[in-house]
Amino acid sequence: MIVIRYDEIGLKGKNREYFERTLEDNIKNHLKRYGYEGIIERPHGRIVVRTNAPHNIFGKIFGIRSYSPAVESTLNLEDIYREIKGILEKKEFNSFRITAKRLWKGYEETSMEINKKIGEMVLRDFKKSVNLEKPDLNIGIEILNDRSYIFTEKYPGPGGIPYGIEGKIIMLISGGIDSPVASYLLMKRGADPTFLHFKTNDEILSKVRRLIEILETYSPKSLDLIVEDHGNLLKDIIYNLESIGERRWTCVFCKYSMLRRADSIAREIGALGIGTGESLGQVASQTLNNIAAENLATTLPVFRPLIGFDKIEIEEMARKIGTYGISISFHGCGCPFLPRHPITNASLERFKDLMERVMEKGNGEAWEIDYEKRC
Ligand code: ATP
Ligand code: MG
Repeated sequence: MIVIRYDEIGLKGKNREYFERTLEDNIKNHLKRYGYEGIIERPHGRIVVRTNAPHNIFGKIFGIRSYSPAVESTLNLEDIYREIKGILEKKEFNSFRITAKRLWKGYEETSMEINKKIGEMVLRDFKKSVNLEKPDLNIGIEILNDRSYIFTEKYPGPGGIPYGIEGKIIMLISGGIDSPVASYLLMKRGADPTFLHFKTNDEILSKVRRLIEILETYSPKSLDLIVEDHGNLLKDIIYNLESIGERRWTCVFCKYSMLRRADSIAREIGALGIGTGESLGQVASQTLNNIAAENLATTLPVFRPLIGFDKIEIEEMARKIGTYGISISFHGCGCPFLPRHPITNASLERFKDLMERVMEKGNGEAWEIDYEKRC
């Protein structure tokens, strides 16, 4: 049996019920996706799962702060100790501590008193020493209003809030390091992404699919990917920019077009926002000026969870969540449309002025797109 802890801060009334119910459903679906069974109970302040699944599955369920494989007992200290004795007889250890916690404050003994009484029983039967700082074995006891749980291991969950609780977003995913990490962070805060990728070549598309498979291990369901052609998105725009000698604006118009397309798909599927992997000032195109111009594409909120992170921090997160290796595995040939000197200080006025001329249909078919040419 697994005892699951979640953050209760801010969880009151109806919110609490919704949070707990969503987390319970998500746990059920995570288990089902991997072919495991689970019987779930929600005693006050905890979720308890009886399951045949390996416990590390719970390390990837958002909303879980920590979890422990545990045994259940009554509120009677003799009963609790009997369970502990059974556990200790199978363990090798020299030092121990008891860490009791009362979730139900009505219990007649304080946590300190429980620690002391159980500790004395262990000392009586096992001739081991108490070590509060660095024990070989930390025996946890949680007291609820009608039962107790006993455990010796506590594993971290991913934290966050239950998957999907905030609703749908469109997530722009590129196959680089950043957008999968941004996706993870938005999923962690309850967003349910439908991915949108503008395809430049098959290798990068297959990378995107593998990245989504990794992200799916954190979700209670499979995740949708919409693939559209990057050349189709841009060919008229590039043609128009070229014909007025303004190719420097390509990247701003590219991101603007991606957001505009994401906006229209969002409205079709009922998504409430758009996510990207941008980080302020990380590359020449991600200046505040450029981002402000690109944002004119949509009135939906655009979430950029990496906005304040350095590249090194983003790479660290990518390693931790398991996407880094795939992201760096193939760089492709770079974007064939990348101008020699992309604009970094897009003035809003100038952008609006250009927009009228550039976004209309052009003779883009005449533009030859060669995605391999930068290899
Ligand atoms: P990433 O590592 O996510 O590729 P990046 O640092 O390379 O980001 P850009 O290439 O400027 O930065 O892209 C910024 C964001 O725009 C990406 O994080 C992603 O959200 C979106 N994006 C870029 N290219 C594509 C694409 N081909 N399809 C869909 N979204 C894209
Ligand atoms: Mg990129």
